[in-house]
Amino acid sequence: MRTILLYRQDVCRTEFTAQVLSCEEYKGRYAVELDQTCFYPEGGGQPADRGVLDGQAVLHVKEDAERVLHLVEKPVEAGKTVEGKIDWDFRFCQMQHHTGEHIVSGIAHRLFGADNVGFHMGEELVTIDLTVELTAEQVREVEYLANAVVQKNIPVEESFPDADALKALDYRSKKELEGQVRIITVPSADCCACCGTHVVTTGQVGMIKLLQPQKYKGGVRITVLCGQRALADYNAKDQSVMDISHQLSAPPAGVAQAVRQQAAQLEELKLKLAETQDKLFGYMVEGLAPEGTICLFEEGLAPNDLRRLAAMMGERRNGISAVFCSAEDGSHRYAVCCHGTDLRPLCKAWNQALNGRGGGDKALVQGSVRADRKAIEDYFAAL
Ligand SMILES: [Zn+2]
Repeated sequence: MRTILLYRQDVCRTEFTAQVLSCEEYKGRYAVELDQTCFYPEGGGQPADRGVLDGQAVLHVKEDAERVLHLVEKPVEAGKTVEGKIDWDFRFCQMQHHTGEHIVSGIAHRLFGADNVGFHMGEELVTIDLTVELTAEQVREVEYLANAVVQKNIPVEESFPDADALKALDYRSKKELEGQVRIITVPSADCCACCGTHVVTTGQVGMIKLLQPQKYKGGVRITVLCGQRALADYNAKDQSVMDISHQLSAPPAGVAQAVRQQAAQLEELKLKLAETQDKLFGYMVEGLAPEGTICLFEEGLAPNDLRRLAAMMGERRNGISAVFCSAEDGSHRYAVCCHGTDLRPLCKAWNQALNGRGGGDKALVQGSVRADRKAIEDYFAAL
């Protein structure tokens, strides 16, 4: 590596001066190599730093064949002395989440033998995939202990053990690694091989919030929120609870119970409505001719109500009992009932004549037709 990695010497450094070692065209952009840089190249699950180099926005930073390449829009002359500055808010957020992830993974491993097999640091969310299907209570326990480690404000340690010391060391991500291995230790919480950027002391992580675990490939996927991101999530949820609290005139701590009560009341009202509707249907059917084909148009009926009304008519009178209800798209939904006649061939015929579809059993059919009221009435009058 020709470039001095300044973020390794001082992870909090944001500005630097460097000399351009090379600049070459790279997929429609320019890749600038420097003699030193504060820019962290994408790797180890951590996204690349953002910022400005020689007055240009740095679009991406990547490691390529032992070189750190800063991708920019316009070429920069080799040999030139340039100024660079990273986007500190973005980087600090990555450092918080990266360290938070170490603490959480280390504790989940120690407590429940869970291995972290997937680590994703997205723009908005950081998730970890653990091999054990932790319960919500177990995740709470990990969260509680992780926050205790934060509050102790312990220095995060970096070390480069030699091959023998490494062999004897118990750390996560233990696999055959080439070259010098960098070990990141959070005393009492975690020991792991890692190339990313971390905070200096655990207190800088801020609050760690773990969202509800989701089942994932035999284990769980957990979303980790640290620092300001955890606060933003708290604020959004607090606002949501306050909104529900005002709407239901219930105290914030009692909104779940209030929603359950409302749901129960709604169920009760639905039952009452169905009972009242059945009575109304009864009166309607009483007023109908006891025999012959009837084609009724009733507005505002749900498919189930339409079916109930047709069935009731079919039971209490002889002949074909058809009920239609107009739908929003201009078509008409129907339910037709008749005992003693096989409705299926008739249904097929009116579907064909009235541009419809649907079917059912011998005595009761349901569907819809793309035809206006007049065409429907004429068809059934001729039956
Ligand atoms: Zn790390």
